[in-house]
Amino acid sequence: MSELGPLSSRDLIIQATYLLASIFFILGLRSLTRPTQARLGMQQAAMGMLFAVIGTLLNAHIVTYQWIIIGLAVGAIIGYPMAMKVPMTAMPQFIAFSHAFGAIAATLVGVVEYRHAFTIDMSGTMTGMSSGIAAAVGFEVLFGALTVTGSFMAFGKLQELIRGQPITFPGQNAFNITLIAVAFLSLGVLIYDPGATWAFYTVLALGFFLGISMVLPIGGGDMPVVISLLNSYAGLAASATGFAIGNNVLIIAGALEGAGGFILSLIMSKAMNRSFANIVFGAFGSAPAASTKEGGPVKEPKTITAEDAATQLAYAGSVVIIPGYGMAVAQAQHTCRELHELIEKKGGKVSYAIHPVAGRMPGHLNVILSEAGIDYGALLTDVDDANRVLLTADVVVIVGANDIVNPDAEDDKSSPLYGMPIFRPWTAKVSFVIKRGKGTGFSGVENPLFTKDNTLMIYGDGKSVIGNLVKEIKALDEGH
Ligand code: NAP
Repeated sequence: MSELGPLSSRDLIIQATYLLASIFFILGLRSLTRPTQARLGMQQAAMGMLFAVIGTLLNAHIVTYQWIIIGLAVGAIIGYPMAMKVPMTAMPQFIAFSHAFGAIAATLVGVVEYRHAFTIDMSGTMTGMSSGIAAAVGFEVLFGALTVTGSFMAFGKLQELIRGQPITFPGQNAFNITLIAVAFLSLGVLIYDPGATWAFYTVLALGFFLGISMVLPIGGGDMPVVISLLNSYAGLAASATGFAIGNNVLIIAGALEGAGGFILSLIMSKAMNRSFANIVFGAFGSAPAASTKEGGPVKEPKTITAEDAATQLAYAGSVVIIPGYGMAVAQAQHTCRELHELIEKKGGKVSYAIHPVAGRMPGHLNVILSEAGIDYGALLTDVDDANRVLLTADVVVIVGANDIVNPDAEDDKSSPLYGMPIFRPWTAKVSFVIKRGKGTGFSGVENPLFTKDNTLMIYGDGKSVIGNLVKEIKALDEGH
């Protein structure tokens, strides 16, 4: 940070650029709270990042731009095609992967800062480090290192590079809590005596180890919450980096990310009915393994033709549409709005039950439905509210959803979904399930909803099946 005294005009420009960057970050986060403005929010955040990068490049301490340009070029060449080509199915692991790289950067900065402070320079002196800076650097490497290994573990599990059951052992929570305590104790020593190199490297090593040990017991289905928590840790590491190197925009952006990731983890763990303490200490979602339910004779799902389904929809008084990840894959939202409008024209009421973890990203379905111009007022975003509406619904149309309507989440203690609040479409008169075939959802488990007596399957791609329903309802109108 600049010492007290007059700021040079370059410093003033840098601080003004950082201020602009921070304003854009805050505006971006604010816009992201409304699905209709989510895209704008991303653009505002990107603009903020552009200002932050420009401000940083103006720093007077930069000796040469050569390596920076090489780094920017390599980053852009790898990052751009990766972001453009990554399929929606791989979005969670992509996010985990990018967190790992952000955290590597923060950890490296921390290590370099520390080593730099305790290295004898050419004039034979050593700058050392104040306790305040040691605290910032210590936090930075602890949260940074934890995020690096934790994010790589999450990536490996989601990408199925790490297979098999989550690894658990008796006393795992106590073991992790002890490790955390030792890490914080070492951090305390480092703050008291910044020259205690062993304490610094203990904090660093425990950070790396904690990332692994905290993610080991977590199953793939629960990984989104962990990723969001790691996001929060990456933010804390970035904020600590800001304190360590005196960079205001890092402090602000890191704090926003830390708080945002933390709030999101709380919301998601509530949506999945998981204990937040368990995520923090690393035994999250470890209880149930894959479903072991012994099936009797395998019951086959019943099907219905688009023509028959259209007739029931055309005369329904209340219709609830439950979109899931498959709706996003099929990009069926616009066709869905057409169906919605047709039903309403015929006097029916249509609402959408949106599960907090539907799709592959928080708010995934809210965003694509709002993109199709579906009124936010038609969305039921609270699981209990939606279940109350489902009790009296005439027809439920489930489009590419699976885990969020799996009754095993309530009935089968051995299911990895057990405990997650789910929609209960079987309480309505009839449910139509639109999916391409017998594919399982994200959790990889079978769904007994599909063989319930009042569930009828319409196999096919979400967009083309809904398109057929629209065509059939129009044909009814034309008296064919
Ligand atoms: P899901 O359980 O993943 O099920 C999606 C279903 O869509 C599949 O069974 C698939 O069956 C069908 N499908 C795929 N493409 C389709 C297409 N083109 N047309 C029609 N159907 C299609 O999805 P969900 O019910 O939305 O549940 C979300 C899951 O993702 C939860 O387990 C959640 O924990 C997890 N998750 C959520 C987030 C988040 O932040 N929202 C992040 C990561 C993971 P077919 O193959 O037979 O078509």
